[in-house]
Amino acid sequence: MKIDLHSHSTHSDGKETVAQIFQYAAEAGLDVLALTDHDTTAGWDEARTEAAKHGITFVPGIEITTKHHGVSVHMLAYLPDPTYEPLIQRLKEVRESRETRVERYVENLQTEYSKLTMDDVRATLSEEGKSPGRPHIADAMVNLGYFGHRNEVFAGPLDKGSVFHIPSDGIHTVEAVKLIRAAGGVPVMAHPMARAKGDLVITEKHREHFIEVIEAGLAGYEVHHREVGDLAREWLTGLALEFDLVLTGSSDYHGMTGKDNRLGENTTTLDMLKRIEAQGYGSAIQWA
Ligand code: AMP
Ligand code: ZN
Ligand code: FE
Ligand code: FE
Repeated sequence: MKIDLHSHSTHSDGKETVAQIFQYAAEAGLDVLALTDHDTTAGWDEARTEAAKHGITFVPGIEITTKHHGVSVHMLAYLPDPTYEPLIQRLKEVRESRETRVERYVENLQTEYSKLTMDDVRATLSEEGKSPGRPHIADAMVNLGYFGHRNEVFAGPLDKGSVFHIPSDGIHTVEAVKLIRAAGGVPVMAHPMARAKGDLVITEKHREHFIEVIEAGLAGYEVHHREVGDLAREWLTGLALEFDLVLTGSSDYHGMTGKDNRLGENTTTLDMLKRIEAQGYGSAIQWA
């Protein structure tokens, strides 16, 4: 069974519609796919229809923007109740804070890229009420001819080390974990310790911070992901054994031209998916 639990559509910063993603998922031979757009459940209904068309099992999810001790942490929420009012409210606030951050980002960038306006960024948002972020700024800059591809903008002015960078906001990670549980969902940390790869030094602080989130109700983390390095994988796997956590693997697909990640490049075992299903009661997996 080929199970991929992390993908993005045009409802957030993916380049393809939900229909296109499920078409590609079928071509890639996936049996199970989760749609996990940033801070929104807007694509779920469409995903149910498209998944059924292709005989693919659909897992409803969200990737929630959170922050822990100054570090940006992405929290996947599987199977939460999308009608749970406190969750709806917090997601709305996070989307609004994304919007404000993008506006500030654009102001920063205008000092060097004078043609760039907020309207150019808005023009790249194809869906109503979707979650804007750096990828949309990147698309706007490509459209204006400053760069040839999203990746080049991320390697340049949108890099975290760039003078233009503004970190994302988000809810406190511990609060997010509790909120997801209260909504009947299963919180799984996305790409933990991502991109730290080579220069990662794991300290007692890491352990303290992870235990804080585990004690709040974390179910597990996405250890098999292209941005999680070998050292982190090894350490996280040890911690997962100690606390009996779920380990997942996913592509974090953003479309063929959105990011290099390809559907099914990392996968989750059926056993792990069953453990997620057993803990989630806010919404259901649509089994094919
Ligand atoms: P933000 O959340 O606004 O800071 O933007 C970061 C998001 O952009 C992450 O979810 C990335 O997965 C996504 N992203 C999309 N395309 C790219 C790309 N080409 N390079 C890096 N990140 C990307
Ligand atoms: Zn994304
Ligand atoms: Fe992420
Ligand atoms: Fe993602």
